Amino acid sequence: MMYDTVTRCPACGNHNSRPSIRPRMMDMFMRFFGLIAYRCRVCQVRFYDRPVPEEKKEA
Ligand SMILES: [Zn+2]
Repeated sequence: MMYDTVTRCPACGNHNSRPSIRPRMMDMFMRFFGLIAYRCRVCQVRFYDRPVPEEKKEA
């Protein structure tokens, strides 16, 4: 499965999301729990998920 390590949008279920580039206070708080902010490219929903492990990324 090529989407195994890609974060999935909780709203639309799409895998087309990227880490949010604008940090907020809440992001610092969530990071404390090992979660980072993402934004879905399809529906623009902002959500939190675990970061994709570096060793599992395709070069
Ligand atoms: Zn979405």
